Amino acid sequence: MDISKILNELEEDHEHYFGAVAPPLVQSSNFAFSSVEDFRKAVYNEQKISLYTRGKNPTTHILCKKLAALAGAEDALVFGSGSAAVSAAVISLVAAGDHIICQQHPYKWSEKLLTKILAKFGVEFTFVDGTDFKNFEAAVKPNTKLIYIESPNSFTFELQDIKAVVALAKKINAKTIIDNSYCTSLGQRCIEMGIDLEVHSLTKYYAGHSDVVAGGVIGSKELIAKIFTTGLQNIGGIISPHDSWLVLRGMRTLPVRMKQVAETTEKVIEFLVAHPRVEKVIYPFHESHPQYELAKKQMLWSGGLFSFILKAEKVEEVEAFANKLRAFKLAVSWGGYESLIYPACVAIQSESYKGYLPFNIIRTYCGLESAEYLIADLKQALE
Ligand SMILES: *Cc1c(COP(=O)(O)O)cnc(C)c1O
Repeated sequence: MDISKILNELEEDHEHYFGAVAPPLVQSSNFAFSSVEDFRKAVYNEQKISLYTRGKNPTTHILCKKLAALAGAEDALVFGSGSAAVSAAVISLVAAGDHIICQQHPYKWSEKLLTKILAKFGVEFTFVDGTDFKNFEAAVKPNTKLIYIESPNSFTFELQDIKAVVALAKKINAKTIIDNSYCTSLGQRCIEMGIDLEVHSLTKYYAGHSDVVAGGVIGSKELIAKIFTTGLQNIGGIISPHDSWLVLRGMRTLPVRMKQVAETTEKVIEFLVAHPRVEKVIYPFHESHPQYELAKKQMLWSGGLFSFILKAEKVEEVEAFANKLRAFKLAVSWGGYESLIYPACVAIQSESYKGYLPFNIIRTYCGLESAEYLIADLKQALE
């Protein structure tokens, strides 16, 4: 379906809400029925009929349908955070005694889901260097039930060959999940490449205004129905109707924002690559990326998030540079209006980053400000 049609029309029935052009915000926890028969129908059909907002809320429902359509999938669910979405999807697919293969250095809280939570319940895991596909094959065990990837991951931007991972999973009868937050479903067509479930932090590009925390899981009707009863209703990490409404609002401009962000990022990267104080830039769509070919093959868009390594002897030089920036705010996350930097030295002693990130790597997000404004800021701080 046409992207504009999805964003403008899909699941929207304006005549039912006074002709309002914005989708309705149904801020209600509960729904009443005019007969016992209707009430009973809803109790047995919670995914289809609004009974209680931990199940189907009409505003959230519109969001789910649009998310699924944008990804070319059958169905989707929305959660109160990306982390809730990841946890719900993974937990719904594995049981004690199962084994998960995951590429090394996924999103910090996804890593902890495996190492700190699922390990307690007898689920095994192996982390592999996913840049070499052979490592996935070598990690397969008779009880491997799930391959979890994040391509690219969000500090060092390593890719996995999605089609090869899908083929391997099919061969061993395992499911596949990809965290597609970096590219969005528009920038990387994972469902079409055969992935079973896409998970997203909607907090980032979809909501797009740094004012909501939300997550999504996208896939087949069958898998989504399974996650609805276990991962969503039982664990209960739901989104509020108001936040769903904000994500819907943000999503309407997603294609326009993506285009602008890519244009700006390209200019900023060009500037950084040529600067004598910059050792290298790590960005999937830059020719210097070791997996540039694969990136061009499986990604349609590389977005505003990248890292660069500053030529520095000491951490103090990195700190001085970061403290000088004004346009770029010092912060985690990405995907909103404002450009951000996250120097690894802020978190380098933490469990997830120790021994992995060098002290002089700086993650950078280019938002919607002009390229000239951002480049001027980097230039004065580098000097
Ligand atoms: C932010 C993020 C998450 C977690 O999403 P929240 O909405 O913050 O819970 C998961 N994966 C990736 C790649 C992220 O960047």
